Amino acid sequence: MSEASKGNALVTGAGRGIGRAIALALAEGGFDLVVNDLARSAELDETVAMIRDKGREAVAVRADIADIDGHAAFLDAAWNAFGGLHCLVNNAGISVAKRDDILTVTPESFDRLMNVNLRGPFFLTQAVAQRMLEAPQDRFRSIITVSSINVGFVAVDRAEYCISKTGLAMMSRLYAVRLASAGINCYEVQPGVIRTDMTAVVRERYDRLFESGVAPIARWGETDDVGNAVAMLASGALPYTTGETLRVDGGLAIRRL
Ligand code: NAD
Repeated sequence: MSEASKGNALVTGAGRGIGRAIALALAEGGFDLVVNDLARSAELDETVAMIRDKGREAVAVRADIADIDGHAAFLDAAWNAFGGLHCLVNNAGISVAKRDDILTVTPESFDRLMNVNLRGPFFLTQAVAQRMLEAPQDRFRSIITVSSINVGFVAVDRAEYCISKTGLAMMSRLYAVRLASAGINCYEVQPGVIRTDMTAVVRERYDRLFESGVAPIARWGETDDVGNAVAMLASGALPYTTGETLRVDGGLAIRRL
């Protein structure tokens, strides 16, 4: 941990998109970063360089979060990079390979989504929490999980995505209760419609929806919108909150008449 650091944070899926923006916002907030992505992600080195440009330390650890057998080695590298972790951001996630009717979802697609979006983060969080519990509580600690507004919004053409993210929402509250006495606050962040590679396939459809007033704040969400929200939660600005959900959706989820 470097001089005047707010702590050390691990962000999964930080090679691009929301994960990269979260890592950069945490760096702005004074964290040193362990950034993770899949082995094939060449973009992860760019994230590291961008963090270093901000004057913070960064180490890349490549691992597939769905590979639970690999978690021990992954976390050894992440934990030892700076001598401990104060923040875990469960960001890595995938959408369906093909949008399809719930009536034709295959077991392969269902399992793929569950493994990456739910099973991987559940056991990664468990492993990080075990290490945090053994470490001295020398500053604010948090576990922040990026779910989706699809926890509340039904998308019949992405059923397995909606179900995996809804499981994450419960996961965040379960860990919040279990870890509160150890001073580890848990939060769930629900992005709305954010302009990333993941949503590139639906860009025109959502352009039209925003134009027609689907959300009170009539624009796409940007990755920085989510990054700044996560950095605020990780900063410890809200120490008497845990198990909370923060929607970053331009008001999309507000029921209107
Ligand atoms: P993205 O596809 O642009 O980036 C995801 C990153 O995660 C990629 O770099 C990818 O390589 C990495 N990743 C994927 N599987 C991984 C694995 N098994 N192990 C490690 N890394 C892995 O996606 P994004 O739009 O930035 O989304 C980030 C998170 O936000 C996801 O969990 C997504 O479900 C969630 N989300 C996104 C939106 C949106 O509108 N973009 C909305 C709600 C929620």
